[in-house]
Amino acid sequence: MNKENSCLVASSFIKKYKAGYPLITDETIQANSLREEGMVFRLVDESNEFIARAYYGKQNKGIGWVLTYDEQEVIDEAYFIRKFQAAFQQRKSLFRDLETTAFRLFHAEGDGIGGLTIDYFAGFLLINWYSQGIYSFKKPILKALEETIEYRGIYQKKRFDQGGKYVEEDDYVVGERGAFPLIVKENGVQYAVYLNEGAMVGVFLDQRDVRRTLRDHYTDGKTVLNTFSYTGAFSVAAALGGATKTTSVDLANRSLRKTIEQFSVNGLDYEAHDIIVEDVFHYFKYAVKKELTFDVVILDPPSFARSKKHTFRAGKDYPSLLKQAIAITADDGLIVASTNCAQFQMKRFKAFIDQAFKETGVTYQIVEEFSLPQDFKTTKSFKDGNYLKVVFIRKQTLK
Ligand code: SAH
Repeated sequence: MNKENSCLVASSFIKKYKAGYPLITDETIQANSLREEGMVFRLVDESNEFIARAYYGKQNKGIGWVLTYDEQEVIDEAYFIRKFQAAFQQRKSLFRDLETTAFRLFHAEGDGIGGLTIDYFAGFLLINWYSQGIYSFKKPILKALEETIEYRGIYQKKRFDQGGKYVEEDDYVVGERGAFPLIVKENGVQYAVYLNEGAMVGVFLDQRDVRRTLRDHYTDGKTVLNTFSYTGAFSVAAALGGATKTTSVDLANRSLRKTIEQFSVNGLDYEAHDIIVEDVFHYFKYAVKKELTFDVVILDPPSFARSKKHTFRAGKDYPSLLKQAIAITADDGLIVASTNCAQFQMKRFKAFIDQAFKETGVTYQIVEEFSLPQDFKTTKSFKDGNYLKVVFIRKQTLK
């Protein structure tokens, strides 16, 4: 252990790390320190006093993560076993819930290891590796999983640059091979998922509470427009909640068959709903021209998206997106505004909402607010980790 490299923390950041900040960035450590993917090193202050033990792994957010604040704690298989046991213990109620078979088992820095997430899909595990560095711990991590959880098989996604290559067979790791689509349940709703099709699994697990609330309280007897609809997960939740009709709009060709599939696995007649492959911004113009309005309008754009005619950046363009939604929302209707953009927090998101309504001259009321659900565990010392913001906004009629 004496050979372990030490890395001096820039003095202005020492307090932050001592308070539990987990992310290593270029600014926080000495520039000339050795940086090898997967290398474990000590973070120290000017007097060579131990602060934390971290690993080096370059990803979009930073260059590594703290693994422990305990100088005695070694990073080995037993370390991963302890982390997994603690995390799985906290998901006990989800394991017991027979109506939900898809959830997050391990959420990166929230569960103590940045750059690593593990999802549970009806007995299969899906590991997301966010850097070459964390991937280099694959062996002890797989062994630790074997020790801590019963599973049918393991799949993986390497979400880091591999020289531009994506190798498909790479998705399967060990155990039983899944038959895809795998049908999972979420609060009784079925979703078809694929663990072997690259980044596209088919359902974003962090919206579970949002989908349930939408289904149980806001869609009965309503018309629903779901924009940036992907596989139509919100549309399915709305249809099961009693929506008279849902309209799903997404630019990607695949969204048509993927949405048909999600409706079908729930025994819903997809032909009674509209599934439109089109640029959302086009669709808004079309709807205004045809004087269409919807009782519920769902907005869930990516943080950044480029289509032929539009570039959308959530941090800048969300107010304008909201204004277009307000124009086609029925009086007393509901807008579900969602963003997973980590660059701004709820306060700023609400300022965007306020700006859009003020500029439109319409009053509103916020009726529901969501951030990440419990299984997407976050830590107070890393606020940016809580990237999800969802606000249900009631458009008010002026009487
Ligand atoms: N709301 C979805 C997730 C959205 S993912 C869900 O809950 O499952 C973002 C989606 O936006 C992608 O499917 C992408 O194809 C789509 N998209 C990006 N830009 C778009 C645009 N300009 N018009 C329509 N869809 C767009």
